[in-house]
Amino acid sequence: MVIGAGLGGLCLAQGLRQAGIDVRIYEREASVRARYQGFRIGIGGPGLAALRECLPQRLHPLLEASTGELSGERRVVDEQLREIRQLGALHGGTATDRHVLRHLLLAGLTDRIQFGKRLVRYTELTDGTVRAEFADGSSATGDLLVGADGGNSPVRRQLLPDAEVVTLDGNGLLGRTPLTERFAGLVPGFGTVVNGPEVRMLLGKMEFRRPPHLAAAELAPDVELPETGSYLRWGAFLPEYIKPLPADWPAVRDLLLAGIADWHPDLVELVRQSDVVNSSVLTVRYAKPVPHWGTRQVTLLGDAIHVMPPSGGMGANTAFRDAALLCRAITAVERGEAELLPAVERYEREMLEYGFAAVAESLEQLPAFAPSVTAGAASAH
Ligand SMILES: Cc1cc2nc3c(=O)[nH]c(=O)nc-3n(C[C@H](O)[C@H](O)[C@H](O)COP(=O)(O)OP(=O)(O)OC[C@H]3O[C@@H](n4cnc5c(N)ncnc54)[C@H](O)[C@@H]3O)c2cc1C
Repeated sequence: MVIGAGLGGLCLAQGLRQAGIDVRIYEREASVRARYQGFRIGIGGPGLAALRECLPQRLHPLLEASTGELSGERRVVDEQLREIRQLGALHGGTATDRHVLRHLLLAGLTDRIQFGKRLVRYTELTDGTVRAEFADGSSATGDLLVGADGGNSPVRRQLLPDAEVVTLDGNGLLGRTPLTERFAGLVPGFGTVVNGPEVRMLLGKMEFRRPPHLAAAELAPDVELPETGSYLRWGAFLPEYIKPLPADWPAVRDLLLAGIADWHPDLVELVRQSDVVNSSVLTVRYAKPVPHWGTRQVTLLGDAIHVMPPSGGMGANTAFRDAALLCRAITAVERGEAELLPAVERYEREMLEYGFAAVAESLEQLPAFAPSVTAGAASAH
């Protein structure tokens, strides 16, 4: 039983399905479209390899066609777009859109997933199975429960009540603006940092190789990908004295517009044209390392155990790596090559090591990414 149909949980389910293992996914939201989460996720290296490993071969061409390039020069400019310096080129990644990728990861799993199932608790039964209990009063039972339920994971709260997740308070905004000819020049390569007097912006490009819905229609007609255009995704960090930030996007956007009124008109227009549905305040969290806890029929994957700031671009990559590793462990059990608990324990020990190393690396990169975030107060739960 996989709790959470996010990137990591769906990737695991794809791998298990391919291996012929009976997997069920339970997602709290009413559908994959319930909350639009269309921001750009860069994947590469072991994360991309893990995603490919879990995804059936027939979907690889669609993965390629519905994503974009993530490489090239990184530059720093001032608020009038005058170049301050080059940070050197970065190569080798793939730019994906979270919303598109989730749709792709749902391919072939519709009979395995139940939406509207918010896990409230689990119970370990005396026969060695686990019962998942949902807010609607229903329950389900399985041999292993995988908490892939994100940074606020109820599974982690029950399994590891002392594990700490720190929320950093830092005035970050995350915007998305349709990519037009006017804006394309703002990000000639991997990304652009705009160092204004009081506000810093980070600009990145999500340019689909092909419109995802058209690529799906041709390459895998049974898969429905959303109709969405290319865009610039940007982060902006407001000065600390502006607090608290309003909750609705038009009000936050107007605060930002007031702060950058004398900036280059292309940047002002970029913010003005931001998409209300896909833009939001940015919450930055990280998990403090936990020691291994003694394996049981309940385990964790992705942000549920090692949530990290987006500064390293490693959260989803690490969740995919977890998914592939856990999938191999469960597959070995299914084939009779290993016992369940020792196989899960090996997964957990390896995952904890590289997972928390990724958290530490992301935290190291945070000051350069968002100085105001590290300067802000933190609260732990
Ligand atoms: C702005 C931003 C940019 C990022 N950029 C990158 C990047 O470039 N590269 C990268 O690798 N990572 C990036 N990340 C991180 C990445 O998005 C996450 O690490 C990744 O989504 C984690 O996947 P997950 O499956 O663990 O959790 P999620 O994708 O968060 O999925 C958790 C799922 O569990 C469900 N759920 C929660 N509670 C329950 C419950 N009680 N019952 C049932 N279901 C539940 C949720 O609805 C959700 O669907 C970025 C994150 C942000 C915010």
